[in-house]
Amino acid sequence: MKYEGMIFRPPSEADSLILQVTVGCSYNRCAFCSAYQGKSFRVKRFDEVKEDIDEASSYGAPIRKVFLADGDALIIPQKGLIQILQYLRMKLKGLERVGIYANARDILRKEVEELRDLKDLGVGIIYLGLESGNPEVLKRIKKNSTVEQMIRAAKRVKEAGVVLSVTVLLGIGGVELSQAHAQDTGKVLSEMDPDFVGALSQIVVPGTPIHEEIETGKLVLPTPFGLIQELETMIGNCQLTHCFFASNHASNYLPLRIRMPEEKEDALRRIADVLRRKDPALLRPEYLRAL
Ligand code: SF4
Repeated sequence: MKYEGMIFRPPSEADSLILQVTVGCSYNRCAFCSAYQGKSFRVKRFDEVKEDIDEASSYGAPIRKVFLADGDALIIPQKGLIQILQYLRMKLKGLERVGIYANARDILRKEVEELRDLKDLGVGIIYLGLESGNPEVLKRIKKNSTVEQMIRAAKRVKEAGVVLSVTVLLGIGGVELSQAHAQDTGKVLSEMDPDFVGALSQIVVPGTPIHEEIETGKLVLPTPFGLIQELETMIGNCQLTHCFFASNHASNYLPLRIRMPEEKEDALRRIADVLRRKDPALLRPEYLRAL
């Protein structure tokens, strides 16, 4: 497989074949993100992708899941995506699911019917980075979509019958917008009603605009217990009908896996207990935290 630069994938795609169909992120300007810094965005030519699929099909072992990298592969025009998906299905006989990162604008560029066509060709899950449901936070972190676009995009994915996984970022509003960020994110998640939510905590990477804001004192990140308070508020504001909410990513201080709505109240009780005791021993140690 010919990968260009560092490859990122959602934790739930750990056992998937990673097929790089684009290089980098078409936007690449979110203030907190260093994932694709230094990569010039391009859509790979079909012959490059085909070569990788041919190689994967020669491994002999059955491949059930494929993840299309990099940052927002859904930006590929419909015709190109269909060509890739059809070839994947032809070559990987046991293929059950294709996953893909997308931003809200990529999704909104496609009609529901087009998303359904992708679903019929194997796209089973779309990963969307909401980060925050607070309009001011989205503006400050230079996310390229508004809250309204995020909600519309999420609804479109669900209408097409594709599983939706949404990522949110604890701490991204700083101390100043901490509670507004948590409250609004919970509310927006409720409107999106995704199948999965992954809560990550902001880890500041040198070289990003957010790092500079922290260095100059413009942004102050919440303390570890401040982040857990955000988690509490966010979950408290979530009214989800059928969702698996996870904060077990390595960046978090308090790893939780909650089936919503069934386990919501139990989770809130557990968080309240941690906040009451304020014992650092209850948190994931700093040296084990990672992006
Ligand atoms: S967060 Fe997503 S959309 Fe923003 S720059 Fe990073 S990969 Fe691109």
